[in-house]
Amino acid sequence: MTGMMPSVMPAAVYVGDGAIAVRELPVPEPGPGEVLVEISHCGICGTDLHLVLEQYARPDSVLGHEWAGTVAAVGDGVDGWELGARVVADTTPGCGTCRACRRGRAAVCLEREPPDYLSFRGAFCRYVVVAAARLLRVPESLSTRAAALTEPTAIAIHTVALSGAEPGDRVLVTGGGPVGLLTTAVLRAQGIDDITVSEPAPARRERALAVGASAVVAPDDLPRAPMAGTVPSPFTIAFECSGNARAAESALEQLDYAGTLVFVGTGHEQPRVNHNRVIVLELTLIGAYNYDAAGFRPALDLLASGALPLDDLIERDDVRLDDVLDVMQRLSAGDLAGKVMVVPRSEIRR
Ligand SMILES: [Zn+2]
Ligand SMILES: [Zn+2]
Repeated sequence: MTGMMPSVMPAAVYVGDGAIAVRELPVPEPGPGEVLVEISHCGICGTDLHLVLEQYARPDSVLGHEWAGTVAAVGDGVDGWELGARVVADTTPGCGTCRACRRGRAAVCLEREPPDYLSFRGAFCRYVVVAAARLLRVPESLSTRAAALTEPTAIAIHTVALSGAEPGDRVLVTGGGPVGLLTTAVLRAQGIDDITVSEPAPARRERALAVGASAVVAPDDLPRAPMAGTVPSPFTIAFECSGNARAAESALEQLDYAGTLVFVGTGHEQPRVNHNRVIVLELTLIGAYNYDAAGFRPALDLLASGALPLDDLIERDDVRLDDVLDVMQRLSAGDLAGKVMVVPRSEIRR
């Protein structure tokens, strides 16, 4: 290990009962083949919200997985990474031979370590250690801050790819929060321009238009479908990005024959699926959780291309570790539309 590193760092730690406290944790040491990364920015994800506000997370977890940073120290045997290099960490590649990998779904490789969804060593802290083999360099034309959008952009690319959406599709996105906005922007960047975003919060509807939606609607204004048949102007594909059970039920009703519903947003309450409708209209219901087999590279390239409205996808004001819980509550209430970036530099309040 090289350089003069502090021995402790601030971290936003989930302490149980829906609470977060900024604590001092030891700075991790990179082992052989590993790199210590100083976090520049880490986005707050909907998953983080569920884990904290719905109290699923295991106490002592440090959440936050949507980050970009700079190389601060390297372990033994690491070549090609200089201190200060701007990086993101790609997903771990799949085995290439299991059923999931053979179907192009390496991100849910059956041979990977069983994921622990409730306990994390994340990046709402100043430093993380990652395997050097996972590092990707942030392109010159992309800021480190915007590069923190790589992981959710990779998910949006995967979501759109799984849906089979193409120009000419008539798309509904339910939920105009960070996930719905990014999905809308990626659809737009891929030439799909008939996109209606359904969202209760007026500020989020505004933002949806700014990132590329062709129309916005309040959920209550979406029509109910007749018993047999479709609503007057049905959609070919719906992306359910809100995690809200009612939104999912409504999205299903808005679909045309042979339409596809993609579940993207997770939620506590489960929707009731009208199976009769799925049968008679021959609908397809799929879930999108992870990344394409190509990993983060296409997301990094898309972000660097300038094709995405980054200023509208990322909230203007970055926040500190002390603000994380408050911001989670505001995101959950629909007060904020875009991705909020945490800058993990805050001092610990004593
Ligand atoms: Zn995420
Ligand atoms: Zn595999």
